[in-house]
Amino acid sequence: MTRIGFIGLGNMGGPMAANLARAGHTVQVFDLVSESLTRAIEAGCIAAGDAREAVSGCELVISMLPAGEHVRSLWLGESAGERGVAALPLGALVIDCSTIDVASARQVGAAAQARGIRFLDAPVSGGVAGAAAGTLTFIVGGEQADFEAAKPVLACMGQNLFHAGALGAGQIAKMCNNMLLAIHMAGTAEALALGVKEGPDPGVLSTIMGKSSGNNWSLERYNPWPGVMENVPASRNYQGGFMTRLMVKDLGLAMALAEHAHSAVPMGALARNLFNLHATKGQGARDFSSIAELYLDKTAPD
Ligand code: NAD
Repeated sequence: MTRIGFIGLGNMGGPMAANLARAGHTVQVFDLVSESLTRAIEAGCIAAGDAREAVSGCELVISMLPAGEHVRSLWLGESAGERGVAALPLGALVIDCSTIDVASARQVGAAAQARGIRFLDAPVSGGVAGAAAGTLTFIVGGEQADFEAAKPVLACMGQNLFHAGALGAGQIAKMCNNMLLAIHMAGTAEALALGVKEGPDPGVLSTIMGKSSGNNWSLERYNPWPGVMENVPASRNYQGGFMTRLMVKDLGLAMALAEHAHSAVPMGALARNLFNLHATKGQGARDFSSIAELYLDKTAPD
């Protein structure tokens, strides 16, 4: 069993650390929020007073933080994190599972490697439910050998482990996926709204499109129309699931990537505007499939 340092015990990191402890690893954790530390202790983790203490004596360290600035601050900044990296033994493996901009992932990875520390960017897909169930998908960038070394630990938290390519490739693949997800979710809501206004039942329409060339994951597995499918956010007033504000964040990262790559992303830009508009109408904390409500007119046109 491995001694693992884990920094960032929020909605995702908390259950991920708990799954590592459940699998028998020694998990030394730190978060700025004391309630998160208390929950982690209850789940079998060992609470540390700061990041340096959490990573002390660990050959493998995982961070799960909100954004690039937090990851840079932890691993590069003047905070306890820098001393934390310095405290890692040569050859230690840092796995950052946060969803962050590619430039930050590459910068932190290069800085770690310069100190003889291995680094993987390993954002996840699967949400809070996947984190709790240990069924996350890990999308990993970095050296193949480091990915192989990380696999047994990642397998305690996830079901699908993908090596996307070199450092930063995990973030790139995750951004491409989430931009496509945003586009087909918005398109699915739009098509359902059009059909429903002119007659067909949304369930019948979903079945027809699901067996035809319009089929996609949003339609088939995460239908945005209320009442069409059980056990999806649309059938519980869009509670739970993947918050609109997180989709807006990911689309912002995709737009930055597109600018860097000089790659045209007209559909992604439109999707970002739609989800941003939706979030600014007070919908940021609801599941992103609530974008369907943009199309649910309550009044008849003149
Ligand atoms: P969260 O805000 O719930 O948790 C982040 C945690 O990091 C907080 O507990 C915060 O206190 C802690 N933190 C911040 N700076 C710290 C520091 N310097 N030292 C120690 N702890 C620190 O966020 P989350 O929902 O757990 O998401 C984490 C990451 O996973 C984000 O990048 C997010 O985009 C990504 N993600 C989230 C989901 C989801 O459904 N929530 C799904 C996939 C990916």
